[in-house]
Amino acid sequence: MDLDRNWSLHCFDCGSEMKSEPPTFLCPKCGGTLELSLRRGFLNRRTLFSRSGSPGIWRHKLALPPVNGLPVSLGEGSTPLLRSTGALSRSNRYEVYVKVEGQNPTGSFKDRGMTVAITRAKQRRAESLICASTGNTSASLAAYAAKAGMRAVVVIPSGKVASGKLVQAVAYGAKIVRVKGNFDKALESTIDAVSKDKSLYLMNSLNPFRIEGQKTAAYEIYEQLGHRVPDAVVMPVGNAGNISALWKGFEEMRVWGITRTSPRMIGVQAAGAAPIYAAYLKGAQGIEPVEAPETIASAIRIGRPVSWKKALRAMKDSGGACLSVTDKEIISARSALSSSEGIFVEAASAAPVAALGRLPESLRKGSKVVCVATGNGLKDQESVRVALDEVPLVDGDSDLHKSISSA
Ligand SMILES: *Cc1c(COP(=O)(O)O)cnc(C)c1O
Ligand SMILES: [Zn+2]
Repeated sequence: MDLDRNWSLHCFDCGSEMKSEPPTFLCPKCGGTLELSLRRGFLNRRTLFSRSGSPGIWRHKLALPPVNGLPVSLGEGSTPLLRSTGALSRSNRYEVYVKVEGQNPTGSFKDRGMTVAITRAKQRRAESLICASTGNTSASLAAYAAKAGMRAVVVIPSGKVASGKLVQAVAYGAKIVRVKGNFDKALESTIDAVSKDKSLYLMNSLNPFRIEGQKTAAYEIYEQLGHRVPDAVVMPVGNAGNISALWKGFEEMRVWGITRTSPRMIGVQAAGAAPIYAAYLKGAQGIEPVEAPETIASAIRIGRPVSWKKALRAMKDSGGACLSVTDKEIISARSALSSSEGIFVEAASAAPVAALGRLPESLRKGSKVVCVATGNGLKDQESVRVALDEVPLVDGDSDLHKSISSA
């Protein structure tokens, strides 16, 4: 590997060390997913949280793959961690926090991973960047490619991508290709294209540089809680890269001796797209793909999650759990977040809040529970917009007064 000697790239499944990056980021021996590792004992509290360099995730650059020169950055990371004061805290037993990832530059946590992966791609002089996406990855890739002056191709499923996300990809100037079928099909075709065409560089979360960037949310949560580890972190799970990433971040801090414990990782899937949940319930060693995943939460409408193994490991090793929630529960949680906490998220991001009522009983009253609000609601307005039809149209000052007092 052309990384410095503190880093290794190996297979998460069989452990094989990679001498170079396979174009598909799948292990040539067993087909498993890859993982980057920073050798033990390398960082301490002072070096991890040093304030030198750019703000945001690059504050933690000593924990990130090495960069020659400046990273390609749009100012990602350093998102707020808000303590719930509204309905979320009143209606359940925990001290609830919301990590507002929708405040990243393109409106989702994907930007944390994208800045690291594109910096790597640029260093490797990649010609064209490609990803398959349910929407947010394409918006993010398109923006970072624009900033880097690189070409981006985004492959999206033919239906059901939130229009706000597509609009972003168009605005940032990416080439957009629509593939018949769902996200899983789009990813399969993209991986196939990457394996055949050497000019393409894969930017999905199979790319372990993405995971390195995304793990920084764990460092931030720890620091924002006043250098305390939360009791549980609850996150939506689609392709399962992000829950694996945050677990990696928390475990690194523990292994480096910065913390003593790691939080319980609780993954939440939508009932109509829940292959990891099904495997978790059965205690199965493998997942059975869901052929036609269906949920309003389009960012997690995924039937063949590539990082399922990492996610199951995170949930088991942390003493966490996998849960599933219905679309109806997601819609009502989304509305609770916006109308009682002032945080407007897209549907997938409300799944953790929807699951708050059924966290493991062993999680004590008063536990610090962090819900990761993965993406911004402004991208995904369709389901909320219907309420506009009920907005009254009034005529003149007296009507306005009447209408306000009856509201
Ligand atoms: C990508 C995404 C997810 C799912 O993350 P995975 O890493 O695929 O599990 C959840 N919510 C939003 C808003 C996303 O963009
Ligand atoms: Zn392998």
